Amino acid sequence: MMARSETDTPRRILLLPGDGIGPEVMREVRRVMDWFARRQGIAFELQEALVGGASYDRHGTPLTDATLEQALQADAVLFGAVGGPKYDDLAFDQKPERGLLRLRKELGLFANLRPAKVFDALIDSSSLKPDLVRGLDIMIVRELTGGIYFGEPRGIETLPGGERRGINTQVYTTTEIRRVAAVAFELARKRQHRVCSVEKANVMESGVLWREEVKALHEAEYSDVELSHMYADNCAMQLVREPKQFDVIVTDNLFGDLLSDCAAMLTGSLGMLPSASLGAPGSDGKRKALYEPVHGSAPDIAGKGLANPIAMLQSFGMMLRYSFDRDDAADQLDGAIGRVLAGGLRTADIMQDGMAKVSTSVMGESIVRELDKAAA
Ligand code: NAD
Repeated sequence: MMARSETDTPRRILLLPGDGIGPEVMREVRRVMDWFARRQGIAFELQEALVGGASYDRHGTPLTDATLEQALQADAVLFGAVGGPKYDDLAFDQKPERGLLRLRKELGLFANLRPAKVFDALIDSSSLKPDLVRGLDIMIVRELTGGIYFGEPRGIETLPGGERRGINTQVYTTTEIRRVAAVAFELARKRQHRVCSVEKANVMESGVLWREEVKALHEAEYSDVELSHMYADNCAMQLVREPKQFDVIVTDNLFGDLLSDCAAMLTGSLGMLPSASLGAPGSDGKRKALYEPVHGSAPDIAGKGLANPIAMLQSFGMMLRYSFDRDDAADQLDGAIGRVLAGGLRTADIMQDGMAKVSTSVMGESIVRELDKAAA
């Protein structure tokens, strides 16, 4: 697995399995990575470290400086999940989630990519009618490090009369808007060449600026991509009315938080949802990147072989596509997952009548077997 092929420089990946089902689903990714290394000559140089509660148990902190340094040096980070009831009473800065937040901050991951893609075999798991979601494949790009969750002033204050007031500030700069819009335009070039930019320019100045800056960047550098604009409330409606009208949606932190969860549910289970977070390109042109399933550590099912590994596997698929430019390999993986589902195998979370219920590892093994068959 670690061997360097003559034509292929190993990709340095830091694996951070984390807590709960994190290590269980990461094990299945290693199986798939091993297959790509053995059968397709894609060389990976893997490092593994603790994060979240597992790191706290060993080192007294959810992310050590040494692990952060490894993440900064890696070509990409693959993250499982963190957290669990055991850690609920820890001080705020020792909580498992702080490990992930610190990684995002230090790696400067400002663009969060959340695909919503429906596998034909799971079409009945969607909350919408099959025709509306068959073949659905949209990508929501959410700004992750700015906007109202970080803007100043913020806080809760007591007014002279004794009444209290809570304050948050929506604030965006030209740079923050343009860099996330650039990610969306670049993604669209690899897809259907369409970007819909979403804000509320009708009632928010930050939205007016957002629209102006996205337009200006589009005219200057991405006029080959089709650009449209939509108000966020309308976008929420359109996502459940006719989701297939979208290719790439780009939006701010707050609206992206809501719209990406809404789009995710069009596809069915939490166990099927991958994500990526990207930063600025370095001197080599490559963006810092962290890939992780949307789900958490699922303590209720941890250690029971019940976890669905597909969200984690698809997160690795996104890494192949967006960090390593291996769309061919990512397509192979997507194809194998689709065929295993079409063949009737299901983990408990996506179980349907007449299908065969399988464990985490049987799902992983079956996907590898399917990769093998297609490559034979
Ligand atoms: P969760 O995503 O862990 O679980 C929600 C529900 O979905 C559970 O019933 C769980 O069994 C199920 N589920 C989740 N992933 C699944 C999978 N791959 N296969 C099958 N079923 C799956 O969310 P939660 O229960 O709210 O949180 C549990 C812990 O995870 C908390 O400590 C929370 O803080 C943490 N969390 C971490 C992350 C992260 O690491 N990025 C994200 C969300 C929650």
